[in-house]
Amino acid sequence: TAPFLPFAGQRFAVVGLGRAGLPSARRLVEWGAEILCWDDGEAAREAATAAGLPVGNPAEVPRFPFDALLLSPGIPHILPRVHPAAAAAARANVPVICDAELLFRAVRASGSAARFIGITGTNGKSTTTALIHHLLARAGREVAVGGNLGPAALGLPLLGDDGLYVLEMSSYMLERMQELRFDVAVQLNLSPDHLDRHGGMDGYAAAKMHVFDRQDRTSLAVVGMDDEWGPHFAAGRAGKVVRISGQARQSGGIWAEERALRSDDGLITDLGTAPALPGSHNAQNAAAATAVALHLGLTREEIVAGIADFPGLPHRQEAVGTIDGIAFVNDSKATNADSTERALASYDRVVLIAGGVPKAGGIAPLAPLFPRIAHAVLIGEAAEDFAATLAAGGVAHEIAGTLEAAVPAALAAARATNTPVVLLSPACASFDQFSGFDARGDAFRAQVASLMETV
Ligand code: ADP
Repeated sequence: TAPFLPFAGQRFAVVGLGRAGLPSARRLVEWGAEILCWDDGEAAREAATAAGLPVGNPAEVPRFPFDALLLSPGIPHILPRVHPAAAAAARANVPVICDAELLFRAVRASGSAARFIGITGTNGKSTTTALIHHLLARAGREVAVGGNLGPAALGLPLLGDDGLYVLEMSSYMLERMQELRFDVAVQLNLSPDHLDRHGGMDGYAAAKMHVFDRQDRTSLAVVGMDDEWGPHFAAGRAGKVVRISGQARQSGGIWAEERALRSDDGLITDLGTAPALPGSHNAQNAAAATAVALHLGLTREEIVAGIADFPGLPHRQEAVGTIDGIAFVNDSKATNADSTERALASYDRVVLIAGGVPKAGGIAPLAPLFPRIAHAVLIGEAAEDFAATLAAGGVAHEIAGTLEAAVPAALAAARATNTPVVLLSPACASFDQFSGFDARGDAFRAQVASLMETV
């Protein structure tokens, strides 16, 4: 058979050679493109050179014309922080694109009618993306998942006509679409985040709105109504709109009340049976995934069973083990007080392991939830500071220093206070003791596993 070369004769600058950039560059070459790679970092340039990819002179911004600039999702291309490569592209009138855009073009060039599902919002993107993927995969659909979560979009396999691409889309990726059209687009919620990158809330909302670009009457828009931006996103959609909520009834939509997931037809399922989806924020995510799955023809039975056996994502309120009926929960992704607040709100009473590199304000914002903390075990740079805040709030606590010491200390405290949950939700970055939140969560999981063996 003839080789598949959808990008033959096209030239791309690939800037940012990280987790997504490197596999994308390889794929572009494989699919016939001429490319030039570029990165500010020496290690990234060396990795690309070692992979046999052409790397430009680091002292010199790539010279255009290229057909497009494939810019890594983390690198800004708009004011106030424009990467020089993006500025050069703008001067040369060359579009900045994302890898999902190129995946879309390649899939269409292959003749496949595979459909695209895009998920965005400020919070819950990864969880919702993973849940949609889980529901579709266990129902036997041909499905590939990637984007901001997991594998780079351009690294995904080519799917046939019945294929479904489930893509987590960051704001930056959404701003770098040209032809990509989501048959199903999900906008979960909007709250202040990355405002510096988007020039305020309106700019941020405008970026998210792109998830609906080019939709037509056959499309589905799933819109979260739990913040004041919901009506803004729901208005003027070209196709069907399903409103979703983790809190309140949405006529014609999917919503949760007291964690019972409902539609106008009645109860869909009680999320009490979904251990990997605690809290009302996850009810919003489950409602969104259910709306997508129903639209794609899954039965209620398939959806209910899939929600119940969704394993969840690592490091986000992930159940990692049980000792003497005490559940150990890994929420290492919680690098600020906001995230820890949501985790604490999901349980009646916990032994909390927290600390690391604190954010401004520390854990003072958690004071309303202090009654839920039976005992706190503190680690890292923030330990002394958090101890003072907890002491002022009347919360029992101890300083363990390291995670290694904290896990057995937390088990002892949970036993002594008859508390059913040990929660690692640090409200801190991890860089004083770990290479990242995932390494911290992995270490916690390993500690719990070895403790399970010894007790
Ligand atoms: P994202 O991919 O958008 O960062 P994740 O699914 O990884 O979102 O969840 C990250 C954290 O955000 C979770 O640990 C939880 O604290 C919080 N979260 C998840 N879903 C929601 C939601 N629907 N609304 C608000 N916060 C959420």
